[in-house]
Parts: sequence; C-alpha cells; structure tokens
Amino acid sequence: MTNSSTTRNAPPVRTRILVTGGAGFIGSHLCDRLLADGHDVLVADNFYSGTRDNIRNLLDHPNFELLRHDVTFPLYVEVDQIYHLACPASPIFYQRDPVQTTKTSVHGSINMLGLAKRTGARILLASTSEVYGDPEVHPQPESYWGRVNPVGIRSCYDEGKRCAETLFFDYYRQHDLEIKVARIFNTYGPLMRPDDGRVVSNFIVQALGGEPLTVYGDGLQTRSFCYVDDLVEGLVRLMDSPREVTGPVNLGNPAEFTMLELAEKVLAEVDPAGTIEKHPLPQDDPTQRSPDISTAKTVLDWEPNVQLAEGLKQTIDYFRGVLG
Ligand code: NAD
Ligand code: UDP
Ligand code: UDP
Repeated sequence: MTNSSTTRNAPPVRTRILVTGGAGFIGSHLCDRLLADGHDVLVADNFYSGTRDNIRNLLDHPNFELLRHDVTFPLYVEVDQIYHLACPASPIFYQRDPVQTTKTSVHGSINMLGLAKRTGARILLASTSEVYGDPEVHPQPESYWGRVNPVGIRSCYDEGKRCAETLFFDYYRQHDLEIKVARIFNTYGPLMRPDDGRVVSNFIVQALGGEPLTVYGDGLQTRSFCYVDDLVEGLVRLMDSPREVTGPVNLGNPAEFTMLELAEKVLAEVDPAGTIEKHPLPQDDPTQRSPDISTAKTVLDWEPNVQLAEGLKQTIDYFRGVLG
C-alpha cells in the first residue's frame, strides 16, 4: 500500500524516449518538446539528411543523449517509448540513394519493432500522406487505400512507408505491441535545410536570394501545409493516447493551396516584385493532397492552429537569420 510519505518522496515520472531521426527537421522540434515536458531523450540518427546543428542547443541538456546510428542495424537500448522518424523525407534526399531509403523504412522498422518487443516500449511510426500516392479520393480519409506506383522513382519512399505500416500492424497483431501510426501531411517550419529541396524551403530561399521561384509543372497541383509546432503536438497526443488507439491517424492542415498560390504568398511576404519560373513536373508527382482529419479531431481532440500566412512568416524569419 502506498502511504503519503512514499508518494511525496517518489521520483517524478520521467519517460525514457528514443527518437530515431531526431536530428532531422521534425525530430529536432520533437526533441525540444519532449525535453521541455521533462523526459529523457535519446536520439539515434546517422545524419543522412539531418544535422548536428539542428540539435546543437540540446547537446548540453542533462536529459539528452545523441547516438550516431543507422537504424538499418540493430540497436540495443532500454527505453519506454520510441518515436520512429528516421527516413529522409524530401524527394531529392530519398531519391539520392533509393535502396537505402527502402532499407531504412523496412529494416529500420523491423529493428525498432524488435527493440519495442524486447523492451515493451510503445512505438510510433512517422508514416506519410504519400501512402495515398496520387489519390482519386479527395480529401483523403485513413480508410482510403491509395494509388501508388510500385516501380516509380517515388516508390522507395511510398512503398517503404507502406511496408513499414504493414510491419507495425503485424507486430501489433502477432506480438501485441503498443503501436501508433501517424500519417503526416506536408509539414514546414524553421530548421528545414536551405537545400532540403521541398517546396516551402525552396520558394523562401529563392525569394530571399532574389531568384525566380521554381514552380514545377503548371503549378496547379495542390498540397496542404502543416506548421511544425502543430504537427509535434499531434504526434505527442497520439503517443499519449489510450492503448487501443493504433491509427493510422492523419495529421496535417486541411487548408489546401496550389503551388502557384504558395509562390504568390511567399513573394508577397518577401519580394512582391519577384518572379516565378516554370520547370518540368517530376515523375509521379501527386496532383492533389489534403487530409481528412476527422479521426484526429475525434480521437486526439487535435487540429492545427497555425494558418499558412502566420507559419510562413515564422519560417521566412528563420531563413532570413540563417542566410544572413
Ligand atoms: P528529415 O530528412 O529532416 O529527417 C529525417 C532524419 O532521419 C534525418 O535526421 C536523417 O539523418 C535521419 N535518417 C535517415 N535515414 C536514417 C537511418 N537509416 N538511420 C538513422 N537515421 C536516419 O525529414 P523530416 O521532415 O524531419 O521527416 C521526419 C519523418 O517524418 C520521416 O520519417 C518522414 O518520412 C516523415 N514525414 C515528414 C513529412 C514532412 O512534410 N516533413 C511528411 C510526411 C512524413
Ligand atoms: N532488435 C534490435 N534491438 C532489440 C531487439 C531486436 O535492434 O533490442 C532487432 C534484431 O536485429 C532483430 C529485429 O530487431 O532482427 C527483429 O526482432 P524480433 O525479435 O522481432 O525478431 P528476431 O530477433 O526473431 O529476428
Ligand atoms: N515543387 C515546386 N517547386 C519546387 C519544389 C517542389 O513546384 O521547387 C512542387 C512539387 O512538384 C510538388 C509540390 O511542390 O508538386 C510539393 O513538393 P515537395 O517536394 O515539397 O513535397 P511532396 O511532393 O513530397 O508532397
């Protein structure tokens, strides 16, 4: 029986959390949040697309630890929760070494699931809206199975993540693991790399440099952009949700914009006299994407708060600082 004095003397509940890919864009914001919440955070990252700079301010934190590690190899550590984010997310990075991208999603997930199985840790997968491919159902609910080219240049990423989802659900059914699968839609914000290659960072860096904005195709394809703080809040709520909430759960901002609209917003903020330049549309580039977030609203009581205009301002300020 617990008496009041043992309760008073009990150490605070501090969760040991592994963040794979914690030196990346989303991962570094997540680490900030988890440390602020009082947890112990261990990052495993091989710096394929992330950088030490992203987490430089955390390196001296007493509850923070950094491990240079490639998740395609086994990892033996003792943790209570795993946020499995390791995987390059930008097309130019994930297409640079596509075999490694698939290995990261598939072998990496097997290893992290094996780790969760041995330790009893709860494990969350950062999956993606890309599992819907070039969707015929719009906006996309979690029940939609998607339309993905299995042999195209994006397949290493899309199919890798689809297989990772399969592994998560098979470990759940076969080994009773506590799993959480988040399907993340396009996310942006400070700490994206200037050379990341994704549209928001490209447009901002180009506008700040006085260069034309590179719009691929006719610019009428759509995306829905979620500010990183909103996304991190959704990830933490999903991790902390009741055991029976496995997902998949869409996390994203449903407000949808064409790439031309995005270019205009960036130019209006940075350089109203700036121009755009049309470039060929990459192969298999999805024509539209917007999340149906009813599940996240109902199950996690989550929805994004930061609108694109505000989020872009924060991101532009960040890049102004970085690019001098
Ligand atoms: P990012 O490229 O900035 O971060 C990925 C991190 O994973 C990097 O630090 C990289 O070095 C690390 N990594 C890659 N391969 C690894 C390996 N084999 N072993 C260890 N570490 C490895 O990307 P991000 O935008 O921060 O995305 C994080 C996660 O969220 C990814 O899994 C991505 O698929 C997912 N996601 C992101 C978005 C988005 O819009 N940013 C959208 C959907 C899904
Ligand atoms: N694994 C790991 N850390 C652990 C436990 C397992 O990296 O703490 C890896 C190990 O390499 C293994 C994989 O996870 O191959 C899958 O583990 P599981 O127990 O499911 O399968 P098995 O060990 O039977 O292959
Ligand atoms: N895009 C663009 N100009 C760029 C980079 C990307 O017009 O400089 C387009 C790209 O073709 C796609 C959209 O912007 O239609 C989003 O691309 P991103 O790489 O950011 O994300 P994803 O395609 O993975 O959703």
